[in-house]
Amino acid sequence: MRAVVFAGVNDVRVVEVPDPVLEAPTDALVRVRRAAVCGTDLHTIAHPDGISAGSILGHEFCGEVVATGSAVRRFVPGVRVSGADFTACGQCWWCRGGHQWECADRQFFGTGEAFGPPLAGAQAELVRVPFADSVLAPVSSGVGWDAALFTGDILATGYAAVQQSRISPGDTVAVIGGGPVGQFASLCAQACSAGPVVLIEPVEARRVFAQEHGAVTATPESARSVLDALTDGRGADAVIEAVGGPRGLDTGLSLVRRCGTLVSVGVHPQPTYPLPVARAFADELTISFAIGNAMRDRDRIDGLVRSGAIDPTVVIDYRTDLAGVPDAYAAMAERRVMKAVIDIP
Ligand SMILES: [Zn+2]
Ligand SMILES: [Zn+2]
Repeated sequence: MRAVVFAGVNDVRVVEVPDPVLEAPTDALVRVRRAAVCGTDLHTIAHPDGISAGSILGHEFCGEVVATGSAVRRFVPGVRVSGADFTACGQCWWCRGGHQWECADRQFFGTGEAFGPPLAGAQAELVRVPFADSVLAPVSSGVGWDAALFTGDILATGYAAVQQSRISPGDTVAVIGGGPVGQFASLCAQACSAGPVVLIEPVEARRVFAQEHGAVTATPESARSVLDALTDGRGADAVIEAVGGPRGLDTGLSLVRRCGTLVSVGVHPQPTYPLPVARAFADELTISFAIGNAMRDRDRIDGLVRSGAIDPTVVIDYRTDLAGVPDAYAAMAERRVMKAVIDIP
């Protein structure tokens, strides 16, 4: 089959590789019909951490089941499925409590050893899916491939951020970062009854997109005054930080009101951060972190998609076949493109 592989720093190639095979009774093989390029993929190839040359990339996918191991109960060949971006056994204490990310059987598709033992990715004609009964979900009738594609990662991440923020109807929410996760956090907050949602983003095209999809927008420089005008100077009831690193946390802390909540869904490669504890204590801030979990949240996310409350396909602004994927990586790295989708016939 053909697959997109890591070939070196910032070097991805489309090559012929052996087809995957069932390795465990709980495995399924999926013929990938849509995959996407994600910011995590860009990070993986720019800062390779335990990923070897020739590894298949990609973790956002949906397609049709083509083969199942003897222990797979929920799926038969031909069923349309979307995949979570990581694996979990579905049986252990963590999984039973909805904390699949903590499962000892976690592997993350297509990212080397960054989040667990390596697992071949899904930017390929076929992908092997461990623990298929947990990791896969049927695609509801009426939901197309393009919408199903995003339930496994970026929409689940935006949703997890909003859930974690525990907003009440009418709350003023600030979202820092206008990439796909930030845009989905904005859409989820609106769908989950937020009041004004202020999306903060330096790139004008991304602000325009957010505005067209229901958000108030601000630049990092104007964010505080925009929020002050909406909240009588208090600041945001909840801040969702979708940038990561110290910058995202700094901005989040500068915008959250007293007794407010800051949720971080951006990635933090740096090991430590100087938390301003005196203010956090005096202002009774809630600061928390969230990771998307399709296995836990996909039924409710599916409800938002099927009802029309969220149309996840709006973020797609680039389509390619497998052969064009290296160009898609470049376009996303240069921020010319918000979200590139790979069509596989
Ligand atoms: Zn992703
Ligand atoms: Zn488990």
